[in-house]
Amino acid sequence: MLHNLFIGELAARLSNRQISSVELTRHFLARIDRFNPALNAFITLTAERALKDAADADARIASGERGPLLGIPLIHKDIFCTDGVKTSCGSRMLDNFVAPYDATVVARLRAAGTVMLGKSNMDEFAMGSSNETSYYGPVQNPWDVTKVPGGSSGGSAAATAARMAPFATGTDTGGSIRQPAALTGVTGLKPTYGRVSRYGMIAFASSLDQAGVFARSAGDAAAVLQVMAGYDPRDSTSVDVAVPDYSKDISKPLKGLKIGLLREFFEGLEPRNAALIEEALNIYTGLGAETREVSLPHLPLSVPTYYVVAPAECSSNLSRFDGVRFGYRCSNPQDLMDLYKRSRGEGFGAEVKRRIMTGTYVLSAGYFDAYYLKAQKARRLITDDFRSAFEKVDLVIGPTTPTPAFDIGAKMNDPVLMYLNDIYTIGANLAGLPGVSVPCGFVEGLPMGLQLIGPHFAEAVLLNAAHQYQQATDWHKHAPRGYE
Ligand code: GLN
Repeated sequence: MLHNLFIGELAARLSNRQISSVELTRHFLARIDRFNPALNAFITLTAERALKDAADADARIASGERGPLLGIPLIHKDIFCTDGVKTSCGSRMLDNFVAPYDATVVARLRAAGTVMLGKSNMDEFAMGSSNETSYYGPVQNPWDVTKVPGGSSGGSAAATAARMAPFATGTDTGGSIRQPAALTGVTGLKPTYGRVSRYGMIAFASSLDQAGVFARSAGDAAAVLQVMAGYDPRDSTSVDVAVPDYSKDISKPLKGLKIGLLREFFEGLEPRNAALIEEALNIYTGLGAETREVSLPHLPLSVPTYYVVAPAECSSNLSRFDGVRFGYRCSNPQDLMDLYKRSRGEGFGAEVKRRIMTGTYVLSAGYFDAYYLKAQKARRLITDDFRSAFEKVDLVIGPTTPTPAFDIGAKMNDPVLMYLNDIYTIGANLAGLPGVSVPCGFVEGLPMGLQLIGPHFAEAVLLNAAHQYQQATDWHKHAPRGYE
């Protein structure tokens, strides 16, 4: 079936005219019609525009143009500004906001000939780990509709897992790509901070946010990153480092690759989760990699550190509210005034309010040193720990999440329990490192993820290691029942 093909296979069929982009788009739109009512993965559907974009892609193909994503449908997380299309960021406050321009990620993917099917559901302002803080209601996990898909990019994850699109964009501030990828059994890549432009991506915590991709394989993620990555003068934190050919070295043998096992990730790990990671390590040693234990002694500080830094940054974004920082231009001063008023609490859900309050508190005169300054110091120690680890190994490996997908409603009344979901993912954000989660098996019928974290700009190493693992296993090919 078309929806089980990988991006490379779809591109080949489009290129030899076995199928058209319009046919492919109709196929996925039909699946969205059928499955989305139960999953709630979308905030906005853009079917009409998709068919038009697909016809444009077909015309480009007919005129001889070829490209790895030309004519391929996708879904954008509703945090990315999309010209002329509602961009809500999962918030009631932006329920009527139609973006006046495309985010760089959107523009690049559009220029590559992708076809946008719609905008995916997400936690409000990307604050959450379960997609339950969305103004548009929770997203259901296709593996079990009583479970969350993870968050904050829950809609993109669920839609990719349910094969409603070959891939989707997401953002990861503390784990929001890797964690939902793990809980829905797909591949999720968070690039190095600065690798992909944040221009037009509504800010949550500017020193941590990074755009990335949900796909069904590392090979597919490589093809998408190729288009997304690169310097953008409109994002001052975007880094001017050459973009390698991610697909080129993906099949390189892993012989001699040095993999670090993070001691802190394995301590207290649930035995069934630990067993899956052990199995993955056996695959890697079978592929010629060498493993050794490494320690990041300050890693246990990462959750408290993050939950000071991220709220501090988002409270400045949301309360100061200058349009540019916030992620979009407001040409009309009246609009800005209106949004400013609403940013003072009205229109926000409980979790966003909690973050603004925490952020304001840790930044306030009497508490700044005790919280914010201390968190900045801890962030530096965590970053240094990773740096020393990468003097010894090429990448580190561990679980993506402590547990599989949990029940909808189970953690909503206990923020600390909710925040602990991110225990394995947040370190990479604090240190600005790239990370990828790949499916590595099941616990009680629910998918689990294996996480690989590498040094800055080592996306090619991660994708190579993830791809080789996927050549040796077929966890990434499992579809949820009913979605095959
Ligand atoms: N769960 C984390 C939070 O709520 C991370 C979210 C994210 O990566 N956007 O802040």
